[in-house]
Amino acid sequence: MRDIPRERFIPEECRHLSCDDEPVAIGFGQTISQPYITALMVECLALVGTETVLEVGAGCGYHAAVLGALAARVVAVEIVPELAQAARRNLEENGLDQNVLIIAGDASRGWPEYAPYDAISVAAAAPEPSPELLAQLKDPGSMVIPVGSLWEQELRVITKREGAVHSRLATYCRFVPLRGGAGWE
Ligand code: SAH
Repeated sequence: MRDIPRERFIPEECRHLSCDDEPVAIGFGQTISQPYITALMVECLALVGTETVLEVGAGCGYHAAVLGALAARVVAVEIVPELAQAARRNLEENGLDQNVLIIAGDASRGWPEYAPYDAISVAAAAPEPSPELLAQLKDPGSMVIPVGSLWEQELRVITKREGAVHSRLATYCRFVPLRGGAGWE
């Protein structure tokens, strides 16, 4: 994470907040996650470098860049087209776009085009992981996702292994809502 310049993913007017361990506004009512949470989420996936990872909620692209440094390939989907464009630009301008693909769209039901994924990282709060999202996770594979109400959630690590699905609590958290077909609106 020290190698990825977080300040260059944050709009200029909020840039002075980039070294704080806090979420920061990135426009369109969205935020870049607190660095601690990004680190925890990435750690939960235990990437070894060979994985194809789906990120749901690319925002400004920072988390996708961190995943890109640790995995073979990242497909990061963002529902706000302007943010998807900004994320793409941020990655390109910092030379971090070689293995990170930013797509504008609704990934509440995953993104079948590049499925299955070795790992899935969801950056917006879901009522529950959609069956489609779970189906796009490889066996073995891991998904990290905030699950709960609009106001508070559990960050859950869902692992698939030998046909069985297991879920554990990583921490309590508060994310912006997942939108779209399998989200809140
Ligand atoms: N990982 C991001 C944090 C983004 S916050 C970063 O590093 O900046 C969560 C993002 O999820 C928001 O940008 C929001 O627009 C997006 N989002 C919400 N619902 C979505 C959906 N169904 N599909 C794709 N993106 C979604």
